[in-house]
Order: sequence, then C-alpha cells, then structure tokens
Amino acid sequence: MSRVVKIGNLKVGGNNPVRIKGMIKTPSAHIKKVIAEARKLEKEGAEAIRVAVREDKDTKLAAVLKKHIDVPIVADVHFHYKLALGAIKEGFDGIRLNPLNISDESQVRKIARLARSFNIPIRVGINSGGFKKEFTHSKALASDMVKRVQRYLKIFQTEGFFDIMVSLKGADVLSTVIANESFSKKFDYPLHLGVTASGPFLEGVVKSSIGIGNLLSGGVGSVLRVSLAAPSFLEVRVAKYILQALNLRRFEPEVICCPTCSRCQVNLINIVDRFKKELEGRDFDKSLRIAIMGCVVNGPGEAYQADIGVAFGEKKAAIFKKDKILGWTDEKRVIADLIKEVEKQEAPTG
Ligand code: SF4
Repeated sequence: MSRVVKIGNLKVGGNNPVRIKGMIKTPSAHIKKVIAEARKLEKEGAEAIRVAVREDKDTKLAAVLKKHIDVPIVADVHFHYKLALGAIKEGFDGIRLNPLNISDESQVRKIARLARSFNIPIRVGINSGGFKKEFTHSKALASDMVKRVQRYLKIFQTEGFFDIMVSLKGADVLSTVIANESFSKKFDYPLHLGVTASGPFLEGVVKSSIGIGNLLSGGVGSVLRVSLAAPSFLEVRVAKYILQALNLRRFEPEVICCPTCSRCQVNLINIVDRFKKELEGRDFDKSLRIAIMGCVVNGPGEAYQADIGVAFGEKKAAIFKKDKILGWTDEKRVIADLIKEVEKQEAPTG
C-alpha cells in the first residue's frame, strides 16, 4: 500500500479513495473564465485542481481561486524553478514538477526545502512528450521514464523530503501501464495515473480507460487525471465513470441500457440521454442500478438484476422491480414514470 500524502486537506494514497484531479484549460489572462471553469470542475467532482503557472503573475492564481472554490489548488510548473518557489510562497497547495525540464540539482533542492517549510507536497510528473528521442517500443520508454524519476527522487530523499506523488504518463497505453507497474513494485509513493496526449476525444476515452483501468484493477494508483481533447469537466466525468465501472467509488446511480438493434421499436438512445439528464442534480441513492432495455430479449433479465428496470415492447413498456411488474408505461411517459419509481424506492419505509 502507498504512503499517504496530503494536498491541502485532501489525503491521497493509503486506504483513501482513489482521488480525481481536474485541470484548468482556460488561459490565465481570462480570469473570470478561469474561475468559472474551476467552479465547474469542483461541481463535477474534481477533488484537486491543477493550473499552469507559466509566468510570475500566474502565481497569484492560488489566492484568486481560493476565494471561489474549496478544493486544493496545484501549480503546474515547467522550465523555471523560480516559478515553483513563487507558487509555494503564494499559497498553492501542491506543485507539479517535470524532471525533464527542471533538472538542475541545486534548483530542485531549493524547491524541496521551501515546499517542506510550507508543508506542501510535490508531484514528480514525467510525460513521454518530454523526451527528445524516439523509442522503438513501449518497454524502453517505460524503463527510461522510471529511471529518470528514480534519479530525481534521490535528490528529494537526500533532502529528507517524502511528501511526493509520482506520475509516469506515456501517450500509449502500454508504456504507461508498464512504467507504473514497475515503479509501484519499488516505491510506496502514491501514483497519479493518466495517459497523456491521448488523442481525439473517443480514442482518448478508450486509451485512458484501458490504461488507468488496467492499473487500478491491479491495485496500482491513488489519484487520477484523465487527459482528453475535450472540456475539462468531461475529463472529471470520465474519471468518475472509470472509478464507478471498477466499483472503486460511486458517484451516481448506474444506468444500464442495451445498445439497441433492429428489434428496438423506440428511440432508446434518446430516452437514455434524457433520463441521464433528469438524474443530474438529483440526490438519488448512488447505489441504485436502473436498467432501460429495448425489447423483451434481454430486457426482463437485465431489469431483474437491476433495482428498477424498464423493458420496451412494441407500443408499451413494462416497469420492473426485480421479478415483479410494477406497471406499464410508454415512450412518452417513461422518463417521468421511472423517476417516480426511483423516488418511491428512496422513500423511507415503515
Ligand atoms: S435488448 Fe432487445 S433491442 Fe436491445 S439490443 Fe438486445 S435484442 Fe436488441
């Protein structure tokens, strides 16, 4: 099991739930939009928010954002070690350093000493994109990432600084998995998982889910950030879905639906989309499983295994609670009827 590291009040690693991080994408010059994005990320479920600190004035972002959100703020620093020093002094709750672009030992020592005096953690985050060479296979890249991080960690160790998280992100799934697995066998620092530069949206979701899911299902990883070419709140949403799919955390009722086929006589995809929107913002029991099925082939079976289920026939649909048919509905009324049944499910008994 990994050691526990605190980012602000957020405990990462050990027995704590796998945490979700978000990252601001709005340039810092548009401060109102930065604040709006941070609030949206927090509302979606980001438990720590990282922001790029590219120049001196960005170090002020911690104080600005802390007026609007309650989750810890982490500074993402590259190239200039003085920005890390500035970010620590200005109140960031954590710093991310890249060993490939802040590598001077005396500079790293200065950062470690200041971080210790402010009691803030550092993430040592290496990405495959930082290497200026080509790797012929994933194993070679993974091995180089681990070696570089290992060398970097020695600097912190000689400073007696251990409030460290580590990330090893390749743009391909295999190098990411191999690097993190190999690192976790040697060290107990909490691992921050992610597949970097994961590609266009759908490919990114697939790569992230396979890479992060593979590691988490093997017990590796304490925190994750999903990187997608998409708005940042969607990264957090996908992170939640990954954790929920692995039964590691629960954020909302699970909706099960069939993929539809030519047997389906209703616009099931639209029904499911509308139903998901109805669930948003409602505080339903997160452990519920709700099945929405297109026909009687798999419908009653899935509905039976769910807490509430609906299976469509030609014109109407049966609403199930386990093996009991509770009533009948149709395409028009199905959302409202399902919500009513879920609410009844929630109502206290006795
Ligand atoms: S449940 Fe029915 S409609 Fe849905 S995919 Fe299966 S066979 Fe097709």
